[in-house]
Amino acid sequence: ERRMIEFARDTTSRTRDGVRIDLMANIERGEEASKALELGADGVGLFRSEYLFMNANKLPSEEEQFTAYKRAIEGMEGLPVTIRTLDLGGDKFVESSELPLYRESNPFLGYRAIRFCLDHEALFLSQLRAILRASAFGKARIMYPMISGALELNRANEMLETAKSHLREGGIAFDEGIQAGAMIEIPSAAVAADTLISGSSFFSVGTNDLIQYLLAVDRLNDRVAHLYEPTHPAVVRTLNSIVSAAKAGNIGVSICGEVAGDPVMVPLLVGLGVESLSMSATLIPNVKFVIQNMDLAEAQDIAKMALETTDGSIILERLLDFYTSRM
Ligand code: PEP
Ligand code: MG
Repeated sequence: ERRMIEFARDTTSRTRDGVRIDLMANIERGEEASKALELGADGVGLFRSEYLFMNANKLPSEEEQFTAYKRAIEGMEGLPVTIRTLDLGGDKFVESSELPLYRESNPFLGYRAIRFCLDHEALFLSQLRAILRASAFGKARIMYPMISGALELNRANEMLETAKSHLREGGIAFDEGIQAGAMIEIPSAAVAADTLISGSSFFSVGTNDLIQYLLAVDRLNDRVAHLYEPTHPAVVRTLNSIVSAAKAGNIGVSICGEVAGDPVMVPLLVGLGVESLSMSATLIPNVKFVIQNMDLAEAQDIAKMALETTDGSIILERLLDFYTSRM
């Protein structure tokens, strides 16, 4: 275990034929960044900022948010930290008289994430200002969850410009070059990913939600868990088309859902052209080991097989065969 961790920290994430794949950490609190760095993370690919709101009995102020984001950014020592704006709603519910969130009969299809933020401008602007202020201390990136189309993305980017103008008026420093990108986790965003290119500096695919919505399988419902199939041909094709859209638009594409940290799935994702994987930091050493023991060309063959196979369980079997033959 200890040797594995040292190995992960001291070696780069490259395939045998030399292709670099960034391995990023998913974190929920600013303090986790330095630990992730020790485990060999190339940055933070997903800071789930809603945990600052869920763990408190009172909404965090702009100042408190700033402190948390800055801590993550400083903890990463110059490596990028991708902060996701508030993704409340769905399964992440907060009981607070300060937040106008209510129980809904279809919470995953309801008042969630960017939908809620675009409706609560003061709250959203204070989060964006907190992120921008923290961006002066290292390399921050902003990521919007649950984008369904270009209108929403453009509105979010307009709010970001407003937040920047507030800081300029106050003479407060921030990174003028800060990048913002869309999460691709709603089928409409995946199908029309080309329409999101002009408003995104990168895409990050949220496969947890994307799979749930593509297959109409509640990600939390045990009774349909057997239908939640990351290797379903529809999922494989959708990932392929998102990557193609990103490449055509010349922007980076990463995955930050659970599949990114699954060593069996990694060769497929890399073969489809994904350049960056974001996962719970403890999974990084294992995924790095997988990447160092495969070639890009092999991964591409696996992706080709997966795109031609009509049965998700056969795709999974092939992935398991590859994994056990190699690791
Ligand atoms: C996802 O949907 O894949 C994702 C990374 O976000 P969350 O699990 O927080 O919804
Ligand atoms: Mg999600």
